[in-house]
Amino acid sequence: MCALRYSSSWPTKAYVNGQWYDAKSGKTFDVINPATGKAIATVPDLDASDVQVAINAANDAFKTWKKTTAKERSDLLRNWYNILVDNKEYLAEIVTAEAGKPLAESLGEVAYGNSFVEWFSEEARRNYGEYVPSPIKSKEILMIRQPLGPVGLITPWNFPIAMITRKASAALAAGCTCVIKPAENTPIMALVLAKFAEDAGIPKGVINVVTASRANTPQVGQLLCESPDIYGISFTGSTEVGKLLYKQCSSTVKRIGLELGGNAPFIVFEGADVDKAVAGAMASKFRNCGQTCVSANRFIIQNKIFPEFVTKLQSAMEKLVIGNGKDSGVNMGPLINMSQVEKVDRIVNDAKSKGATIVMGGNRAQTFGERFYEPTLITDVKENMACYVEEIFGPVAVCIGFDTEEEGLKIANSTNRGLAGYFYSNDLSQVWRVTKALEVGMVGVNEGIISSTEAAFGGVKESGLGREGSSHGMEEYTEIKYVCFGNIQQE
Ligand code: NAP
Repeated sequence: MCALRYSSSWPTKAYVNGQWYDAKSGKTFDVINPATGKAIATVPDLDASDVQVAINAANDAFKTWKKTTAKERSDLLRNWYNILVDNKEYLAEIVTAEAGKPLAESLGEVAYGNSFVEWFSEEARRNYGEYVPSPIKSKEILMIRQPLGPVGLITPWNFPIAMITRKASAALAAGCTCVIKPAENTPIMALVLAKFAEDAGIPKGVINVVTASRANTPQVGQLLCESPDIYGISFTGSTEVGKLLYKQCSSTVKRIGLELGGNAPFIVFEGADVDKAVAGAMASKFRNCGQTCVSANRFIIQNKIFPEFVTKLQSAMEKLVIGNGKDSGVNMGPLINMSQVEKVDRIVNDAKSKGATIVMGGNRAQTFGERFYEPTLITDVKENMACYVEEIFGPVAVCIGFDTEEEGLKIANSTNRGLAGYFYSNDLSQVWRVTKALEVGMVGVNEGIISSTEAAFGGVKESGLGREGSSHGMEEYTEIKYVCFGNIQQE
C-alpha cells in the first residue's frame, strides 16, 4: 500500500477551476462528526455568485475536455482509480469521521465507490454509436453519442464517496465536465476526491466542488438547475427535493436524473429459509444505521412463519454493537444529524401512540451520544401509522403479517415509492410471479444486498428517473446525434 498522502490534514476549501477556493462572502460552516457531535473541519459556505464561477470554469474546461479521445479520458480515470485504491484506508476514515459508519462498512463503501471509477474508465471506450441500415439506397444512417456539456451533480450524505463517483466518473467518461454539490454533512470526501483527481492529471475545471451550508443550498441548487450553461442535473436524495429540482429544470428543458427515496418491501414467504431471510434482513436494514435508500422499510411476513421470523430477527438485533464507528467491534453507528434523530423518534412515537407493539428498543440511545438510536423492532403495525407509509431511514424494523401471496404483494406495492424490493421464496414459479409483480426498479431474490457497479441502479414511481452504474450509466450524460448521409452513389 502507498503511504497516505494527507495523514494529518484534509483539504478544507472548495475546489473551483483547479484552485482551492474561499467563499466571496468569507462565510464558512462546520463539519460535524455525528458520533461525537464535535466539529472536525470548517469549509467555505458558497452562494450562487461563487457557484457561477464554478459553472464558468466547467464551461471553459468543456471546450477542450470534449475533444479528448475516449482513450485519454479512460487513462485519466484509471489514474484516479489507482490513487483512490492506494488510499482506501484513508478514504474510509473520512467516511467514518463525517458520516459515522463503522470502519468496516466505510471500507466497503470505499471499495464500492472506487469501483465506479474503474468501471467508467473502461466504459469510456465503449461509448458506441449505431449504424442503421437505410430504407433508401442513396442514404446512409448513423447515430453518434456526444457529451451533454457541463453538468451539475447534487449528492447526499449517506454514501459520501459512492454517490459522487457513480455520477462524476460516468460524466467524465462521456466527455462532460461537472460542478459537484455535496451534502452539508459530508463535504470533506468530495474535496479529497477532487484533490486525488487533480493528482491523477484531470485538467482544471473538469471537476469543481462547491461546498454549501443547508441555508445556502437552495440558491445553489436553483442556479445549477436554471442556468443555461448547465446541460444536465443528476441528483440523489429525497423525493421532496427531487421534485423541486425537476420543476426548476423545466425552465431550460434540462436533462435530469433522479435517484430518490424508497420504501422497500421485504417479503418472506412460508417455505423460505428463515435463517437466510433474517441474515438478509439484518444486512439490508441495519447497514449505515438504516440510512440507505435501498434499506428494507417494511418486513412483510407470511403469517405461518411470522413468530419464528420475529424471534430470530430480535435475537440477531440483540447482537448489534452500537458505538463510534472508529472503535473495533462496533457495527452500528449514529444517525447523521439531529433532524434524522427527531424523524425516527417521531415515527416510533406515532406507532406507540396508535397501539403498535414495541418488541425491542424504541428510544434514543443517549448513553452513546445524542445522535444514537436503539435498534427497534415493531409489530402490530396498522396502515395509518407513519412507519407503514414513510421511509424511516433509521434502525427500526417494522413487521407486518399476511396470509396469501396476493395480499403480500398488495401490501408491498401500496406505496408511491418503487426503488428496491426483496423477497425470500423457494418456489420457482412464485419467484417469477413476484419478481414481475413488484413495482420497483431493483429486486433482491433471496438476497438482502443488491447494489453492484455492473447492474443498473434506479427506481420507478416517485423513486426516480434514469439509471446509474452499469452499461447504461453513461447514457445520462450523452445526447444521440443522428447523421444522415445523402446522395450516395451505391454503384
Ligand atoms: P436531501 O435532503 O434531499 O439532500 C440531498 C442533497 O440535496 C444534499 O446535497 C442536499 O444539500 C441537497 N439539497 C437539499 N435541498 C436542496 C435544494 N432545495 N436544492 C438543491 N439541493 C438541495 O436528502 P438527504 O436527507 O440528504 O438524503 C436522504 C434521502 O436520499 C433519502 O430519501 C434516501 O432514500 C435518498 N437516497 C436515494 C438514493 C438513490 O440512489 N435512490 C441514494 C441515497 C439516498 P444539504 O445537505 O446542504 O441540505
